[in-house]
Parts: sequence; C-alpha cells; structure tokens
Amino acid sequence: KEEFSKGALRNKTVEDILTPVRDCFMLSAGAVLDFSTMSQIMQSGYTRIPVYEEERSNIVDILYVKDLGLVDPDDCTPLSTITKFYNHPLHFVFNDTKLDAVLEEFKRGKSHMAIVQKVNNEGEGDPFYEVMGLVTLEDVIEIIIKSEIMDE
Ligand code: ADP
Repeated sequence: KEEFSKGALRNKTVEDILTPVRDCFMLSAGAVLDFSTMSQIMQSGYTRIPVYEEERSNIVDILYVKDLGLVDPDDCTPLSTITKFYNHPLHFVFNDTKLDAVLEEFKRGKSHMAIVQKVNNEGEGDPFYEVMGLVTLEDVIEIIIKSEIMDE
C-alpha cells in the first residue's frame, strides 16, 4: 500500500493537480481593504490569498486571512500596507516538479502553498515565467488518500 502511494507521488507533477490561475481567488496589489473587499475575502473561505500586480499571472505577494485580525474596514487600509508589514515568503515551483519533491518542500518550509510557474517560450519574444496556478499541501494529501483507497 505504501509503495502505491509513493508511486502516485513520484509519477504525478504539480501541473496535474494545481488549481488553475483562472479559478484562484486573488487580490490586486492595488486593492483597498474596505468593507466590500474584506467581505469578499471572508466569503471566499480561503486562508491564503495570492496578490497580483497588473496581470493575474504576475503574483507578487501573499495575504494570510489571519493578517486581517486588526484591520478595521472603516480605515480603508491599502492591501500593500498589510502585505509589506507581514511580508510572507512566496514559494514558487516549476510545473514539472514531482509531488514527492513538493511534499518534501512543504514539510521543510513554513508555507504549505506553492505558486506553480512554467517557462513560456511560445511566441516571438524572449521566454518568460508564467504562473499556471497554485498547489497546497491539501492537494497533495488528496492524491495520497485517493491512491490508498484505490489500492484497497
Ligand atoms: P484553505 O486552507 O484556504 O482552505 P487548502 O490548503 O486547504 O486551503 O486548499 C484547499 C483547496 O483550495 C486546494 O485545492 C487548493 O488548491 C485550493 N486553494 C487554496 N487557496 C486558494 C485560493 N486563494 N484560490 C483558489 N483556490 C485555492
């Protein structure tokens, strides 16, 4: 049984299991933490929210919902004030990273979320990094559990 779940983690990549960027709940770096934005964050139900600049594929920061504990929506605090204060590290992985490797990174590091990027070399210009989505420890655990059930 153990061998089977190890196999699943060795064979699959983060690209196979990520939450695509179009489905991610994110905030623009220029957002203001007013009542409307704070409500959207709470209603999303997520605990970590990537912050993008200009385009959704350009993630520059991460907001933890617990950072909002002392924020009063009436103050209309700029999101950047909060993200600069907490300055949580962003963790990037490439799309072809195997699940066993990302699991090891999750175990080692403090963050249990990684932003998945790939090198985009389609088109005329220079290749550039493009964000494909995000993956969390929860996504990896789901694969482990599924493969254990399938094995039974
Ligand atoms: P949370 O603690 O916020 O519920 P989890 O790490 O438990 O997040 O992940 C649950 C699922 O939600 C996973 O499939 C993960 O990829 C996805 N997820 C996590 N954060 C976001 C987000 N900000 N937007 C969209 N999906 C997310």
